[in-house]
Amino acid sequence: MDKSVGKAQKSGVKLEKFQTPRGVHDVLPDDHAYFTIIKKVVRHRARQAGYRRISTPVIEYKDVFVRGVGESTDIVEKELYSFSTKEGGDEYALKPEGTAGIVRAYIQHGMGSLPQPVELYYIEPHFRHDRPQKGRYRQFFQFGFEVLGESDPGVDAQIIQLAHLVYSDLGIADRLSLQISTLGCSECREKFINDLRDYYIGKERNLCEDCVRRLQTNPLRLLDCKEEDCKILAENAPKFKSEICDECKDHHQKVLELLDAIDIEYIENDSLVRGLDYYNRTVFEFWDKASGGSSSVGGGGRYDGLVEQLGGAATPACGFAAGMERVVALMREEKLMAPDKDHIDVFVAQLGFEPKKVALQLLTALRSEGVHALGAVGKASMKAQLSKADKFGAPFALILGEVEVREGKVILRDMKSGTQEVIPIGKAVAQILKRISKDRLDTYDPTKELKKDNSVKPEDELLIRD
Ligand SMILES: [Zn+2]
Ligand SMILES: [Zn+2]
Repeated sequence: MDKSVGKAQKSGVKLEKFQTPRGVHDVLPDDHAYFTIIKKVVRHRARQAGYRRISTPVIEYKDVFVRGVGESTDIVEKELYSFSTKEGGDEYALKPEGTAGIVRAYIQHGMGSLPQPVELYYIEPHFRHDRPQKGRYRQFFQFGFEVLGESDPGVDAQIIQLAHLVYSDLGIADRLSLQISTLGCSECREKFINDLRDYYIGKERNLCEDCVRRLQTNPLRLLDCKEEDCKILAENAPKFKSEICDECKDHHQKVLELLDAIDIEYIENDSLVRGLDYYNRTVFEFWDKASGGSSSVGGGGRYDGLVEQLGGAATPACGFAAGMERVVALMREEKLMAPDKDHIDVFVAQLGFEPKKVALQLLTALRSEGVHALGAVGKASMKAQLSKADKFGAPFALILGEVEVREGKVILRDMKSGTQEVIPIGKAVAQILKRISKDRLDTYDPTKELKKDNSVKPEDELLIRD
């Protein structure tokens, strides 16, 4: 404990009660019930499709995001948490999204020499200095999928399907509509951007401040500005489809046909641009039908130029990411209760030190059989201990007094009915196991999974630090 705290308390200074900073939040045990099932579903579906998990650090050199996400994006311009070190002055940033760091890792670890495509998934915290609003936080969790090293439209369709499966498993797919579009390649996009500039020139007075600037730096962004006047202008702006080149048109058409083949419904939405620079060709978002484009619950697309842009060999790639807080909010709106595995089955009450020893032995035996068991602490009265057992929702209590222990007995109490019986201590675990249903048992034996293998080297290549 900080010494200054003790001092301040002694001198009678009232200490400020700390709160989380604005826009960040604790993930409390009840919230984790939701996070746990989301992670489970993501892991399960990702593994089925051959993905492997990756975690990139929370901090990266700032340039990874400036070059990766794009200098003129909101994320880099306004939302990046960046800082420089006291010595050296290197500039770092907290990761605002997952893709740029993963591309950096793909290049750094030479994953281009692995069989392609490389399929990766992540479940990680991200940070944006965003204006906090409902469902948006400054530290937020995202899960995502990235497939690097394959340009086929079959990748795009499968990533979309994977996202859809996750939403579907989590009971919110029916609420979402898949919006899809194409941004073309750098050539056809350049033509389109010129058309956009021509269209907007002379209309600057009707644009918001941001859009006037974007017209110079990133005209595509004018199409997804949320300001009313900008929206009206965007509606009449030239449409990308008129400039799209044949290869891009073919790619897009194939993605749509493949989605049809696997029964994924979509809405073609020409004004979809996404807020990140690295996208090309396929872009998509899952929108909450109830609130439209203002609340995307996840999205992604192709980023064929990003690996090269961050210094790697030209490598086509496609990805998806979703905010977990948004998913939890929708699950709650759908009245979906996340399974809570934190139940207590048995409370072991004791009076006296000898009984406490036996109680600890009983707890150990119960837990090793997979029974969630609590107790054997404190000196509270039997009444207080049983009331505690009740509050924890334990259906059974095992009660040990000096007399019982001396006789090798224990009292088994059914907390609901209040009935109790005296049984031999040696039969207590078996009696409990007989009474609670098998699906409440929590048995996991990692020793069955951990095997010695001579191919394991002292340090895996990927873990070597410089
Ligand atoms: Zn093109
Ligand atoms: Zn605007």
